[in-house]
Amino acid sequence: MHQKPDGDAMGSALGLYHFLVALGSEVTVISPTNWADFLNWMPGVKKVVDFENQREKAKGIIDAAERIFCLDFNVLHRTKHMEQPLAQAKAVKLLIDHHEQPQREAFNYGISDTGKSSTCEMVYDFIIKSGHGGLLNETIAECLYTGLMTDTGSFRFPSTTASVHRMVAHLKDSGLKHTPVHEHIYDNFLENRLRFIGFALLHRMEVLYDYNTALMYITREDLVKYDIKTGDTEGLVNYLLTISGIRFGAIVVDRSEERKWSFRSKGYFDVNAFARRHFEGGGHMNAAGGRSSESLQETVKKFKEVLTEYQIQLQ
Ligand code: 5GP
Ligand code: MN
Repeated sequence: MHQKPDGDAMGSALGLYHFLVALGSEVTVISPTNWADFLNWMPGVKKVVDFENQREKAKGIIDAAERIFCLDFNVLHRTKHMEQPLAQAKAVKLLIDHHEQPQREAFNYGISDTGKSSTCEMVYDFIIKSGHGGLLNETIAECLYTGLMTDTGSFRFPSTTASVHRMVAHLKDSGLKHTPVHEHIYDNFLENRLRFIGFALLHRMEVLYDYNTALMYITREDLVKYDIKTGDTEGLVNYLLTISGIRFGAIVVDRSEERKWSFRSKGYFDVNAFARRHFEGGGHMNAAGGRSSESLQETVKKFKEVLTEYQIQLQ
């Protein structure tokens, strides 16, 4: 899975894990980095190896593996420090992913389908098409529902097809209790995170009406002051799109190692292309991310400068 795994990365990996274990395989889930606390309820998460924390152990597992499933990323550098060990691994590498422009030569086999809502949906298809759909149970269903729910914005993005709803129906028939999943993911934060959101909306948001764009920047001091952890800023960018007429939302967070951008759009403004072109990133048409090594001030300045090229597209 990609670094700082989200609900879809962790959900698809753990869903596949429980399925392969049920088939009798020996399986380890490795995450390139740590993850948000709101994923810690997930079945099997305690066995996930954090590459940054347990580098030697993880490298040993990667070297010894027969097959490596690469989930919810399609370019090796999205796995940060795992890029080299993955590139050198002798295992057969199988890609299951829904992002644009896969690095084809890095994988032996795979499915890359940008029409899919989530990697969790693709793992579900994989399970069904393998002929072992009978192994679906409440545990696998909880994992796969997590990514399906988070990547579709709780079933509202255009990627929410009839197949997505049919999958939910099947998961429900397999024992899924969906309400606790929503509560674990969305109603499980500390008070400081809500106060931080209030602060950020009040003091760190700029609305650029000429471009139908809203921008938010979070400084390192803000992160310290409100004790903001991995995952606490997730979803913040979506607030920007709740302003009537705003078609492009962008947030940049001053993480210690880099300035991390999240981009979201409504309609036909392609944030994947924008992220690739200007901020070393990528993703999907309506949701993408990127990065910058420049200072927060510099990267915000650059954003505003390049935005001027898109005024017509954003009308
Ligand atoms: P988020 O803003 O939630 O971090 O990411 C939005 C989408 O863009 C996700 O599908 C994520 O996998 C993808 N994404 C985020 N950052 C990057 C990046 O730096 N490079 C690429 N290729 N995709 C990214
Ligand atoms: Mn995904």
